[in-house]
Amino acid sequence: MKKLQKKMVRRISGYICDRCGREAEIGDMEAEEFISIERVGGYHSIFGDGNQISTDICQHCLKDILGEWLRVTPCAG
Ligand SMILES: [Zn+2]
Repeated sequence: MKKLQKKMVRRISGYICDRCGREAEIGDMEAEEFISIERVGGYHSIFGDGNQISTDICQHCLKDILGEWLRVTPCAG
């Protein structure tokens, strides 16, 4: 017999774009196109050594912000 214990599990239920406020729930096609960045600044980071850097951006804002610098390669298949 296994002994079980209750455990709280947190999961992503959707996204809100940090730039425009667009919302998308998990299961929506739009949610699958969100870009999330999470990292910790290193010793030489302009954001500060050890500082957490994070954002969730919708595909529309990603294109608006980085448009000409994004390398979009057609699907090979
Ligand atoms: Zn957006």
